[in-house]
Amino acid sequence: MIIAVDGPAASGKGTIARALAQHFALPYLDTGLLYRAVAANVTRLELDPAIEADAVAACDFDDSLLEDPLLRSDEIGSRASVVSAHPLVRAALFHRQKRFAYQEGGAVLDGRDIGTVIAPDANAKLFVRATPNIRAKRRHAELRERGSTLSLDRVLADIRARDLRDSTRSTAPLVPAHDAALLDTSFLSIEASVQRAIAIVDARIAR
Ligand code: C5P
Repeated sequence: MIIAVDGPAASGKGTIARALAQHFALPYLDTGLLYRAVAANVTRLELDPAIEADAVAACDFDDSLLEDPLLRSDEIGSRASVVSAHPLVRAALFHRQKRFAYQEGGAVLDGRDIGTVIAPDANAKLFVRATPNIRAKRRHAELRERGSTLSLDRVLADIRARDLRDSTRSTAPLVPAHDAALLDTSFLSIEASVQRAIAIVDARIAR
């Protein structure tokens, strides 16, 4: 069984995808981390994330980089949305994600284009969303816990910029798959969001 979980930054999709993987005993891949690794590598190599050839040169990274907590920073997230707009970067990361999705027994993947590009025939697709203000508050609280001093306004501006870049790029833009179930987590607790997501997947696989 393949479960695709897509949605914008800080919508709750990562928490939901991890909980679904645990509930259905499936392996899980956070595909955003792959783009974040490219962004971190571009920085390390002192290349320009806006130049496609530079970003492609950074796609060859050591898997240990995926464990680096620095990948979770807001700055790397913003740079990841710049490198991820290049079609050749998406192509370089495509097979790795596809292989993970179609492994025997299935998998849960979260990202922006799982239901549309990576696993268009996934058994269950969720598109998780929440208002920009609520996502900014969640991300701000999370960053503060990690010692960041970024203001809420700055986090909101970053989220809006990232949404715009992710949803207007020409290759694999952030849009719900036509057959995705929409899950708005704006006014739901984590537990309620997870329960709703499990119910959606149960209903999809029972069809
Ligand atoms: O999900 P996360 O915020 O970690 O993703 C970082 C960036 O990577 C996103 O803003 C998006 O531009 C890009 N991304 C993508 N496709 C995916 C996952 C992430 O373009 N499947």
